[in-house]
Amino acid sequence: MSTKASMNETPLGQIETILKDLRTSFKSGKTKPLSWRKKQIEQLYKMCDEQRELFASAANTDFARPITETYLYDCGVIRNECIHALNHLDEWAKDEYRSDSLAYATMSKYVHPEPYGTCLIIGAWNYPFNLTLLPLLGAIAAGNCAIVKPSELAPHSASVLTTMIGRYLDSSCIRVVLGAIDQTHALLKGDIDHVFYTGSTAVGKIVAKTVAEKMIPVVLECGGKSPVYVADDANIAVTAKRLAWGKTVNCGQTCLAPDYLLCSKATESRLIPEIIRAWRTFYTDNPVNSDSYCHIVNGRHFERLKKLIDTSKVIYGGEADANRNYISPTIMTNVDENDKVMQEEIFGPLLPIVTVQNEHEAIEFINARSKPLALYIFTSNNNLAKTIINSTSSGSTCVNDVIFQIAPPSLPFGGVGDSGLGSYHGKYSFDTFSHHRSVVYSATWSEPILSKRNPPYTKQKTAFMESLVKARRNWVPLPRIGGFWFWAFAALATAVITRVLVRGFRDDKWEF
Ligand code: NAD
Repeated sequence: MSTKASMNETPLGQIETILKDLRTSFKSGKTKPLSWRKKQIEQLYKMCDEQRELFASAANTDFARPITETYLYDCGVIRNECIHALNHLDEWAKDEYRSDSLAYATMSKYVHPEPYGTCLIIGAWNYPFNLTLLPLLGAIAAGNCAIVKPSELAPHSASVLTTMIGRYLDSSCIRVVLGAIDQTHALLKGDIDHVFYTGSTAVGKIVAKTVAEKMIPVVLECGGKSPVYVADDANIAVTAKRLAWGKTVNCGQTCLAPDYLLCSKATESRLIPEIIRAWRTFYTDNPVNSDSYCHIVNGRHFERLKKLIDTSKVIYGGEADANRNYISPTIMTNVDENDKVMQEEIFGPLLPIVTVQNEHEAIEFINARSKPLALYIFTSNNNLAKTIINSTSSGSTCVNDVIFQIAPPSLPFGGVGDSGLGSYHGKYSFDTFSHHRSVVYSATWSEPILSKRNPPYTKQKTAFMESLVKARRNWVPLPRIGGFWFWAFAALATAVITRVLVRGFRDDKWEF
C-alpha cells in the first residue's frame, strides 16, 4: 500500500488570489440568499450520493479503509446532515425576536445570524470526507464563502475531494487548497474571517496562536485520551462487543475512540475473553487479510504505535507488519499511568487496561488528566452513571456505548479544555459559522422616559433610571413581554377594560 502518493500541492503564490476571489464573491452578496445556500447543500448531498464509490476507493487506497466505513461514517453521515440542514435552514436563519422585562418594552429586539465572510476549514485525514465536508456544510448553511484544506496524509482522498468540490459546488465561493504546513500557514496569514480546525491538540494550539493577532473566531476540534469505565454490574457481552467495535473501527484512528479502559480486576477477567471473541467474529483470527480491517495511515504512525506496545504486557494481538502498516487488535494488561501507552493519545488498535477498585478511583484517575473528548461509562445503574458524569468533565459522554453519541444531529459535537474549543453538527454547525448580531429598534416616543438618562444628573433622575432597569427576581413565573400568549392576554384585557369604561360593568349583554 502506498501512503506516499504525491499530492498536487497548491502553489503558495496562488493562495492570495484564491482568497481575493472569495472575498469578491462574498462582498457581492451571492452567498447570503437562502436559495444559494440550499442549492449548494443539495449539490453536497448529490456529490456524497453519486461519488461515494470514488470516495470509498480513495480512502481505501490511502489507508486500506474498508469501503463500508466510508459509506457509513463519511458519505452517509454527510447526506443525513444535509437533509437535516435543508429541513431546518429557514428556521435557523430567521431573526430571533427576544422579550425582556418591562424596562425594555419600548425596544423591538432580535438576534440576526450573519455570515462571517471567508471561513477556512482545516481537515484531518482519518475521516477525510466527513471532517472536511460537515464543517463545509455548516459554513454554507450560514452563508459564508469557504476554503477547505484537507490533510496531506490522505492524498488520494484529498485529490478526489478537490475534483468533486470543483465539479459539484460553486467554485466562485468554495475552493480547496492542497498541501501541508506551508499552505496551512499561508492560509492562516491570509484574508480570512473564521478558522475551523480538526486535528491534534498540539497543532490546534499552533493554529490558535497564529490567528490570535487577527482576533477572528477559531474552532478547535482536537483529540486526547478518551477513557472508558466499566462497572462490575455492566452487561459484559454487550460491553465487550461495543468496545471491540469502537477500538478497531477505522483501526482505532477515530478521535472519539475509547482510548484506555478502567475496571476492576474481576471485570477485567470477564471482559477480556468476550472482547477477543468479538474481534475474532469481526475479523477472523487473521485480521491482516480481512477487508473489514483498516490499516495505519503511514509509516510514521505505524512506528509510533509500535513503540507504545509493551510486549511484556500484551495478552492478545501485538502483531505488526511494516510493509502494510498493519497492527492487529491488541490488549495490554497490568498497565499503569507510567506506561508509554498512557502518555499520549493512542489513535490505533491498542487497548490498555488499568485496574481500579471502584468508580471513585476511576473518577480520580480521569480527573487527574486533561479533559477528554469523550468519556464512556458501562453500567446497569443510571445513578452510578450520573455520579460519574457529575464528578468529571468531557466533550461528550455515552453510557453503554461508544462513539455513537456523535450521530444525532440534535447534539453538539466538540471538546472541552485540551480536547477542543467550540462545537458543530446540526444547528450547532449553523451557529458556529454565524455571528449572532444583536439588533435593537428603539421607539422615538419613549424619549420622555429615556431622556432621564441624560446629564445633568440629579438624584431623582438617577433613582428613576435605576428603578427602570433594575433586574428583579421572579418569585413566581411571570409572562414575558411579547410572544403569542402575552399579546393574546393583553388584547383580551384591553377589550374588557374598554368595554367596562364605555358601557359599565352591570350591562346585560357582554358584547364587544
Ligand atoms: P494533525 O494535527 O497532524 O493535522 C491536522 C491538520 O493540520 C492537517 O490538515 C495538517 O496539514 C495541518 N497541520 C499539521 N501540522 C501543522 C502545523 N505545524 N501548522 C499548521 N497546520 C498543520 O492531525 P491528524 O494526524 O491529521 O489527525 C489526528 C488528530 O486529530 C488526533 O489527535 C485526533 O484525535 C484528532 N482528531 C480530532 C477530531 C475531532 O473532531 N475532534 C477528528 C479527527 C481527528
